Amino acid sequence: KIREMRKVYDLGSTQVVALAGLNIDVHKNEYLAIMGPSGSGKSTLMNMIGCLDTPSSGEYHLANEPVYEMNDDELALIRNREIGFIFQSFNLLPRTTILRNVELPLVYSGLPREVRVERARIALEKVGLAERINHQPNELSGGQRQRVAIARALVNEPSILLADEPTGNLDSKTGEEIMRLFEDLYQQGHTLLVVTHEDDIANHARRCVRLRDGVVESDEIIHEPELA
Ligand code: ATP
Ligand code: MG
Repeated sequence: KIREMRKVYDLGSTQVVALAGLNIDVHKNEYLAIMGPSGSGKSTLMNMIGCLDTPSSGEYHLANEPVYEMNDDELALIRNREIGFIFQSFNLLPRTTILRNVELPLVYSGLPREVRVERARIALEKVGLAERINHQPNELSGGQRQRVAIARALVNEPSILLADEPTGNLDSKTGEEIMRLFEDLYQQGHTLLVVTHEDDIANHARRCVRLRDGVVESDEIIHEPELA
C-alpha cells in the first residue's frame, strides 16, 4: 500500500522528481504489468517496493509493516524475507556455478549448507534447469540465464517477485518462454510485478498500471480477448 510517495533525486545543482505523489495498492496473488515512457519512474517505483531505496516522502506498507519508517537494517531484513528481484541483465556471478548463484541469497539465513543447497536445487527444478546445476552462467543461453535469475529470486520464498524489464535482453521467442514461466508462478500463488515496454509482454498480466511523470496515469484490469 503506497500513499503519496515522492522520490526526489538530488543531483547537487538540480533535483529530479522521479515519483511525484504516487498512490497504488497491490494485493496478494496479483499479476501486474508496469508500463510507461522512459523516465516515468518505473524502476524507481520497483526499487521502493523492493526496499532497495527509501522515498523522500509518503507512506509505504508492505505485509502491513511501515517500510517508510524502517532503518537500513530493518529494510534489509524485510527485503530478504518478502522480495525477489529479477533484472534485465540477469546479474549472475559469472565464474560461479548456477547452483551456487541460486544458493547465495540464503548464505546469511542461518540455514545449514545442505538445506541451502537443497532449496537451491528445488528452485532450479522449478525453472526447468535441474540438469544444469554445475554449469556456469556463460555456458547457458540468455533465456536459461534469466531462468537462473528467477530461481535465485524464488529461493527465499518471497511474497513478491519484482521483475524490471525481464525480457529486455531476450529475443521474442525466449521472452515468451519467460512469460510462460511467470504465468506458472502466478498460478502457484506468487505475486508478480513486471516492468515492460512491450504490449505483448504486458498482456500476460492481469492488471496494467501506466506511469507518467512519476504518478499513476491509468490502472486497468486486462481482460481476456472475447471470442469472435
Ligand atoms: P526506463 O524505461 O528508461 O527504464 P524508468 O521509468 O524506469 O525509465 P526511472 O529509472 O525510474 O525511469 O527514472 C525516473 C527519473 O529519475 C528519470 O528522470 C531518471 O533520470 C531519474 N533517476 C533515476 N535514478 C536516478 C538516480 N540514481 N539519480 C538521479 N536521477 C535518477
Ligand atoms: Mg527503468
